[in-house]
Amino acid sequence: MSIDVRGVGKKFGDFVALDDVSVSIPTGQLTALLGPSGGGKSTLLRIIAGLETADTGTVSIEGRDATSLPAQKRNVGFVFQHYAAFKHLSVRKNVAFGLEIRKTPKDEVRRRVDELLALVHLTQFADRKPAQLSGGQRQRMALARALAVQPSVLLLDEPFGALDAKVRKELRDWLRRLHDEIPVTTVFVTHDQEEALEVADEIVVINEGRVEQVGSPDDLYDTPANPFVMGFLGPVT
Ligand code: ADP
Ligand code: MG
Repeated sequence: MSIDVRGVGKKFGDFVALDDVSVSIPTGQLTALLGPSGGGKSTLLRIIAGLETADTGTVSIEGRDATSLPAQKRNVGFVFQHYAAFKHLSVRKNVAFGLEIRKTPKDEVRRRVDELLALVHLTQFADRKPAQLSGGQRQRMALARALAVQPSVLLLDEPFGALDAKVRKELRDWLRRLHDEIPVTTVFVTHDQEEALEVADEIVVINEGRVEQVGSPDDLYDTPANPFVMGFLGPVT
């Protein structure tokens, strides 16, 4: 298992955001954390990332106990809904950033960045500034940047949430294709049933701080574990 979450609990004051959550995510899998707003998805992702600490339970990444490791030592890549690009840097420099701060040799940086820009079809925009890209292109840049440092785990929180429906659909396909090319263990948060069902290998349904069901899109659709999952997935339009 690449990510192992065991008995994780998290409270904000008296409010229970996560209640005894356990999830195992195999290496190389593309996993969706799916559920309604306020269910605890982002909190769980942030605990996996090391951006938030759990009150109880453990997190292992690649078989190593990461529970008390800071985020920068977990070898995780992130993509958020509103991507914080460096505005004054070119697309190429944005993608190269993580490699350069790690003092990666120049020719290797160039090779890897070229490869990633080609994969997300941004080669011709390499010298532009992020402001000169569309929203969808910017998130593709964010994907390339997160993958540049060869993370063992890629975490995305509502990565396409801020985009319009057509671009969302396009980026869904990008995520799937990119994952087929570079099969990094990936967890993405979404409240969009269709997004999860179409993209993910496996879906973890989270509601009110608890895991309701874990299964493939077909499993969830054909055999929902309980009325909540049945109602939440509903007929997909
Ligand atoms: P989701 O991503 O599924 O929408 P979150 O994990 O962001 O849900 O939040 C779960 C619940 O925990 C929400 O009710 C939210 O208001 C609460 N919460 C999240 N972060 C904090 C925080 N830092 N302080 C207080 N409450 C929080
Ligand atoms: Mg969230």
